[in-house]
Amino acid sequence: MTAKAPITQDVMTLPRKIEAGGKINLIGQTRDQLRETLIAAGTPEKQAKMRVGQIWQWLYQKGVRSFDDMTNLAKPFRAMLAESFCIELPEVVTRLISEDGTRKYLVRIAGGHEVEVVYIPEEGRGTLCISSQVGCTLTCSFCHTGTQKLVRNLSAAEIIGQVMLVRDDLGEWPELGRANPPEARLLSNIVLMGMGEPLYNFENVRDAMKIAMDPEGISLSRRRITLSTSGVVPEIERTATEIGCLLAVSFHATTDETRDILVPINKRWNIETLLSALAAYPKASNSERITFEYVMLKGINDSDEDAHRLVQLIKDYKIPAKINLIPFNEWPGAPYERSSNNRIRAFSDIVHDAGYASPVRKPRGEDIMAACGQLKSETERARKSRKQIEAEAGLS
Ligand code: SAH
Ligand code: SF4
Repeated sequence: MTAKAPITQDVMTLPRKIEAGGKINLIGQTRDQLRETLIAAGTPEKQAKMRVGQIWQWLYQKGVRSFDDMTNLAKPFRAMLAESFCIELPEVVTRLISEDGTRKYLVRIAGGHEVEVVYIPEEGRGTLCISSQVGCTLTCSFCHTGTQKLVRNLSAAEIIGQVMLVRDDLGEWPELGRANPPEARLLSNIVLMGMGEPLYNFENVRDAMKIAMDPEGISLSRRRITLSTSGVVPEIERTATEIGCLLAVSFHATTDETRDILVPINKRWNIETLLSALAAYPKASNSERITFEYVMLKGINDSDEDAHRLVQLIKDYKIPAKINLIPFNEWPGAPYERSSNNRIRAFSDIVHDAGYASPVRKPRGEDIMAACGQLKSETERARKSRKQIEAEAGLS
């Protein structure tokens, strides 16, 4: 039996209907929801399915933001849409572009909350790291997001909206017709590795990713989407059956004793329970391996013994896996240090010699603080110091 840890997921999601000016946002609605919405607004049932397809193509394939531009819809229908509905995306507050091309966006969502989105261009692909929650209910001790108190689930619109606004910024909407094939795209992959635990916001993440994968939506293959979880075991199987994307797991330790501290959800679902769930992941295969994320923390989880234990565990459970070693991104006040490059190399070699891919994640966008949780904390710091400066100057 696993011990119960005091982990809550008491977070709220903004209801779909509360959007700007009392109008209903069409972004983020599933096909079924949009169909119902259109029927409720007077669209004949027989036409509704076709209208959903048309509207989706305008929104997600062509990037259109005004009903007026939806030229294959009759004018009175467009007028009706404009009357009752809106097309609303989160707003970009800051954009930083690194020397290496990494782009980091701070994005404001309803209620004035802010989340971060990172775009990482690489040879032949462009990966977008998106957020699923403001903050996180979990408290992994090495993660800056875990120290942020405020938590709210993002709506499906706010999740898919991150993809859309980055396509805006990259100028990636095709003028006419179908979108480019994914391999030619600037934004070709999505990873749910930003702020928050995606499996504690399952429905909204699922609905947004369905739009990302739909041929009339953003049209990315499910193999180009990776969801990272700290190990919310009951939702792992659903990820395969209801989303069908690739899975990454924040493993980070090879004993329950250490994982309890680094990833406290381990007290609820321990290593054995987690590995059993991963072994049963319906989508796992040699061509769709599960990524084990492993943050390298000096003197905590980076010994040769840890490396051997890690591969043994994965072997024992026969999990098709690759191990992604992440040099720890230090943040002010963090209780850990990054392992040395030599240590990371030695660890990687052991994993590799045991037959598993063990890439070391390259730090990207360091000049713009593009690592987990950093832009937001930098911005907050800048605001605080501005306030302090104003206070000292007697301005506030
Ligand atoms: N909540 C999810 C997804 C977001 S975190 C999860 O935990 O998997 C995405 C990845 O970044 C996770 O593997 C997380 O453990 C890692 N991470 C968080 N803070 C980090 C830091 N300071 N340095 C390196 N990796 C970090
Ligand atoms: Fe939340 Fe993931 Fe950070 Fe843990 S590592 S606190 S689950 S965002």
